[in-house]
Amino acid sequence: MNKSQLQQHDREHLLHPFTDFHDLGQQGTRLITSAEGVYITDIDGHKMLDGMSGLWCCNLGYSRREISEAIYEQLNRLPFYNSFFQCTTVPSIELADLLAEVTPAHMNNVFFTGSGSEANDTNLRIIRRYWDLKDLPEKRIIISRNNAYHGSTIGGASLGGMSGMHKQFQSLDYIEHIQQPYWFGEGGDMSPEEFGIYAARCLDEKIQELGPDKVAAFIAEPIQGAGGVIIPPETYWPEVKKVLDQYDILLVMDEVIFGFGRTGEWFGSDYYGVKPDLMTFAKAVTNGYFPLGGTMVSDRVADVIKSKGGEFTHGYTYSAHPAACMAGLATLNILREEKIIENVRDNTAPYLAKRWAELADHPIVGEARSLGLVGALELVKDKSSRARFDDKCTAGAVCRNMSIKNGLVMRATGDTMIIAPPLILTTGQIDELVEKARRALDDTAMAMA
Ligand SMILES: *Cc1c(COP(=O)(O)O)cnc(C)c1O
Repeated sequence: MNKSQLQQHDREHLLHPFTDFHDLGQQGTRLITSAEGVYITDIDGHKMLDGMSGLWCCNLGYSRREISEAIYEQLNRLPFYNSFFQCTTVPSIELADLLAEVTPAHMNNVFFTGSGSEANDTNLRIIRRYWDLKDLPEKRIIISRNNAYHGSTIGGASLGGMSGMHKQFQSLDYIEHIQQPYWFGEGGDMSPEEFGIYAARCLDEKIQELGPDKVAAFIAEPIQGAGGVIIPPETYWPEVKKVLDQYDILLVMDEVIFGFGRTGEWFGSDYYGVKPDLMTFAKAVTNGYFPLGGTMVSDRVADVIKSKGGEFTHGYTYSAHPAACMAGLATLNILREEKIIENVRDNTAPYLAKRWAELADHPIVGEARSLGLVGALELVKDKSSRARFDDKCTAGAVCRNMSIKNGLVMRATGDTMIIAPPLILTTGQIDELVEKARRALDDTAMAMA
C-alpha cells in the first residue's frame, strides 16, 4: 500500500487513542516508518529529532539491539508462562531482584503488570488490601490532584484529574482531587515559593475535611508529565512530606514518566527525597520495546500483605511476562553499565537547563522551565500578564505543527509545549533541539500575528 492507501485504511479501521476521530479522518495520520538513535523518520523521508522519546518511553533511543535481542531470545526459549498458581520464570525473578536493587532501599517487592494504568489499578487493590488487613477498613478515600495523569483504565482515569476525561466516564466515588502545584497557570500573585506551600497545605486541608481516619492514600507524580511538565515549586514536596508525616496515610508516587533517570536520579522520589509506600512504573522500564509496568511495594506494606494469610485475588495474564522482563533487564543493565543517569545529572541536564532557559527571551514565551531532561514552554500573547492567545489553545497546536515541520517532535498540552527527549541526547543534539524549538517559536509568532 502507498501512503494515501495506508491513510485511507487507517481512517476506515483504526480507532486511535486520545484522538478526535472526526478531525483525524479529515487531516490524515502521520506515518512513522523507521527510527535510529534519537531520530524518527516518516513515510515521506522526513527525519525528526524525537523530543518526546516516543511517548516518554524510549529513553535510550531506538537502536539498542541488546534489548530487542534479549526479547527475541526469550521468545524462542520460553515465549510465555504465567506467574499464577505458584509458578514463576527466571526473567521475572531476575528483574524483581534488580528492581529491588535500583529502587529506594525500603522498596523490595514488585507486582508486575502490562502497563502504567494497570499498575495504578493494582495500587488501588493493594491499598485496600493493606488497610483491611490492618483492621482499618474505613480508610477508603484516595486523594489525587487536578490535572494529574495516572492512566486510562477506569481506575487510572478516576485517579487522574483531567476534566476532559472525567466528562466521558463515571469515576470511582472514593477519589478526591486537590489543587495542583502549577505556579505559572494558577499561582496568581503568589511567588512560586509561597504557592508551593499553599498547594501543599491544600492536601492538609483536604485530609482534615475528610477526616484522617477516612483517608487511605495520596497519589502524585513527582512532576506532572502529561499535564504539561508541571515542575512544582521547590517548597512543594518538603511541605507535602511534612503533611503526610503527621497522618497515617500511604503515599503512592506515580513514577511512570520520571522513573529510570529522567530527573538525573533513578526516581523522582530520590530527586525530591520522599519515601513512597508504593511506586508505579512502566514506559521507560523496557525502553518502550515491550509492554511492561508494575508497582514497587515498600517493606511497610509488603510486610502486612505478605505476612497475613488469605489470597490476594488480583493479577493479569501478562503479569511478569518473561519477554517483557528480559526487555526490562536489558534496559536497566544498559542504564547502569553506561552510567546514563549519572551523565544526565552531571552533564546533559545542566546543559539543557542553560540552553532551554535562553528561550525565555522569545516574545511569545511566558516561561521556559526544565529539570533533568524535561522541559516546557508556556506560549503567551502577553508576557507580563501571562495572557494566552485565545481559549482554544490554537498557539500550542500551531507550534506543534511548526516544530514537526522544522524536524523536532515537541508535544503541545494546551498552550504549553513540552519535551522529554531520550536520556542519551548529546550536548550537540541539545543545541539542535533548542535551535529547532526557536525556529518553531518564530514560525508560531508569525502565524499567530
Ligand atoms: C503514561 C502514564 C500512565 C499510564 O501508563 P500506560 O502504560 O499508558 O497505561 C500512568 N501514569 C503516568 C504518570 C503516565 O505518564
